Amino acid sequence: MRKIIILFGPPGIGKGTVGTSLNKDIKMPLVSVGNLLREGVKNQSVIGKKAENYMTKGELVPDDLVLELLKERIMQQDASTGFVLDGFPRNHQQVVMLEKIFKDGDICFVLNLEGSDKIIIERLSNRRICEKCGAIYHLINIPPKKSGICDICEGKLIQRVDDTPQVIKKRLDVFKNDTKPILDFYKKKGCLYSVFAEGKLSETLEQIYKIIN
Ligand code: AMP
Repeated sequence: MRKIIILFGPPGIGKGTVGTSLNKDIKMPLVSVGNLLREGVKNQSVIGKKAENYMTKGELVPDDLVLELLKERIMQQDASTGFVLDGFPRNHQQVVMLEKIFKDGDICFVLNLEGSDKIIIERLSNRRICEKCGAIYHLINIPPKKSGICDICEGKLIQRVDDTPQVIKKRLDVFKNDTKPILDFYKKKGCLYSVFAEGKLSETLEQIYKIIN
């Protein structure tokens, strides 16, 4: 039996930050498709090279590439009892792919992190990530101890190339048109939970622990 937690929500709502906390607190591996792709782009892997152009424009990377990365990651030993998924599935086809990955007895929680457009834009424009380890900061809510430097590995903090106003708009459109409609499927399946994600991280986590424990 595996416990699979899907972090669902628009870009910038805090899926990565929540996922990192779950990973630290309950030791579940965090499988972030965006991080895997960014890693591939950084290393100029075969998939990374193919994905880069889509990511820079804020479009979805083709399903077959993303699925390959995902499968490879969840086959690793640490994911054998469960994992937290950030950024997958993002369209109907990916829902179908994920259903094929599920095994009998798996328990699935789809946590729908909800917040207004205003809070999303505010969080995205204040977001910085470490170019070395990918740790996520918010200039006001989760600032680094030393300005511009990662607390964990001392890497340089940068703004993601897709966190510009034009690309943010595109990513929000993709979320509304391709990703949000898949909620219906999980609602019918009976594993969809609503999480109010506009408050402090601790408040969001408190709701999540009540659902998944
Ligand atoms: P994220 O880090 O989740 O915001 O994802 C960053 C970018 O990676 C997205 O804008 C897409 O270009 C790509 N990406 C991440 N997850 C997926 C996915 N499940 N399917 C397709 N593209 C993805």
